[in-house]
Amino acid sequence: MIEVKNLRKEFNVQGKQLVAIRDISFTISKGETLGLVGESGCGKSTTGRCLLRLEEITSGEVVYENKNLISFNRQELFSFRRNAQIIFQDPYSSLNPRMTAADIIREPLHIHRVVPKNGMENYLKELTRMVGLSESALGRFPHEFSGGQRQRIGIARALALKPQFIVCDEPISALDVSVQAQIVNLLKNLQKELGLTYLFIAHDLAMVKYISDRVAVMYLGNIVEIASAEELYSNPLHPYTQALLSAIPIPDPLLERKRRRVALKGEVPSPLAMPKGCPFASRCPHATPLCQEVAPEHREIAPGHFAACHWVK
Ligand code: SF4
Repeated sequence: MIEVKNLRKEFNVQGKQLVAIRDISFTISKGETLGLVGESGCGKSTTGRCLLRLEEITSGEVVYENKNLISFNRQELFSFRRNAQIIFQDPYSSLNPRMTAADIIREPLHIHRVVPKNGMENYLKELTRMVGLSESALGRFPHEFSGGQRQRIGIARALALKPQFIVCDEPISALDVSVQAQIVNLLKNLQKELGLTYLFIAHDLAMVKYISDRVAVMYLGNIVEIASAEELYSNPLHPYTQALLSAIPIPDPLLERKRRRVALKGEVPSPLAMPKGCPFASRCPHATPLCQEVAPEHREIAPGHFAACHWVK
């Protein structure tokens, strides 16, 4: 459904060139969830926004159903916006506090005119039911809801235009732990029911494993490893992925005591001065002089399992 080829995104910051995304390529199949993980500031959200053309890309291609998104004219972009939506991280700041839930969900429907006026009320009720809210929620304002309920309104707004593809940009990061699983389960059920395709951006690796078919690990604007969720979590190859996974707490205290954590030392390079070799070299326990000089290629190490590292055999 989506093919990203050599995507690069730079921002101009006070006359300097900030490389947010260096050169990334990946695909997302119809009905699939691709998890995108990494520390904050690594370029995950910018990637999601480039896929929706909410950011103009610097170079590369984003191909959506065999058409290059970059070459879309106004009309094509308008139709694309119907098919591709976003769920934001902070459901409070992304909802207009002066609008009722009904107005918030209705807004994109007005712009795209996909529901006739006389069917609108029933359609809004159906959407609130789909996201697990009662009909009475439609008349209330964002501050009258809990964080989880607000995110359900954000999801209803994203679903209103019957999209095929949704970028879920850290949709659970701002929520209480007790509510996170409910929202992830809701997204999973909606995917099954509606045949949705997701890019699921998060820094909580445990939750990403639960929802994703495949997972891509991002570091400083680069995808360093990509594999099926099962393969990545059972056999991480890249030293950065190994370090991230070793930091996930294990609920069993005995196993927790036995496991080996990979502590990362060293500074994260500034995206204003990207190193010429491997972006992870300053923190990697396996770095060699070659790593400082030559950026590793993305290689398929096992079927469907890609990593960018000189050390991985
Ligand atoms: S290429 Fe070198 S520095 Fe980069 S992750 Fe691999 S071993 Fe570490």
